[in-house]
Amino acid sequence: MIEVTNLKKEFDETTVLESIDFKVEKGEVVCLVGPSGSGKTTLLRCLNLLETPNGGTVTIGEKTLRFDGSSSVKKRDVNAMRQYSGMVFQGFHLFPHRTVIDNIIEAPMTVQGRSRAELIREGEELLGKVGMLEHKDKYPDALSGGQQQRAAIARALMMKPEVMLFDEPTSALDPQTVGEVLRVMESLAAEGLTMVVVTHEMNFARRVADKVLFMDGGYIVESGAPADVLENPKEARTREFLQLLE
Ligand code: ADP
Repeated sequence: MIEVTNLKKEFDETTVLESIDFKVEKGEVVCLVGPSGSGKTTLLRCLNLLETPNGGTVTIGEKTLRFDGSSSVKKRDVNAMRQYSGMVFQGFHLFPHRTVIDNIIEAPMTVQGRSRAELIREGEELLGKVGMLEHKDKYPDALSGGQQQRAAIARALMMKPEVMLFDEPTSALDPQTVGEVLRVMESLAAEGLTMVVVTHEMNFARRVADKVLFMDGGYIVESGAPADVLENPKEARTREFLQLLE
């Protein structure tokens, strides 16, 4: 479903991702973990071209793009790539002046030109799935962070993405609402959705991930099953990182 080869990303003259290679099979959950500044968010953003890589290739679904750092990416290619993925951000990014239901039908209505009535039916179904149906007519500022994030997840799912990309989805939440968001993510994983998740929630990674990529200094230092990378790491840098969390 996803293949990344020899990916490189620079900001100005500084290299923040180098020699990144990994694959995500359909239905897999891959967690990106590692210290702050190691490149996790940048890597996730390269997958849907919120950042343009300076080298390497990215394949998602049927679409492959090659980057050689010489030219900008065509709008047509960006849109083709983005069809395959939905993104959930740390800060929710809901439209503040729209209700939950209007937030989640906005993209398919404007981008795909689908009818409002049909989208409301689909939207309500998805809101039910994330436990947000009773809040469908509320505005974002009347909701807790956990509720806003669940609405943001439903919004991303409305476009029927093949892959969901989560960028620290629980980092901005009060501790009491972290669990409700992680449970929604876990149920999506159980349904077979392919997911890439940047997270500091090691228990989530242990329980839900098929594969963990440990990043440090712009490289994937170690990757494998959570039982290997998180319980029995081979690399000293992985061990140091995990010890600091204890
Ligand atoms: P992580 O998600 O692991 O905390 P990031 O991907 O956010 O790491 O950042 C990796 C490195 O790239 C950091 O050194 C960060 O300062 C730098 N960086 C991220 N975004 C930008 C940007 N837009 N401009 C310049 N440097 C950036």
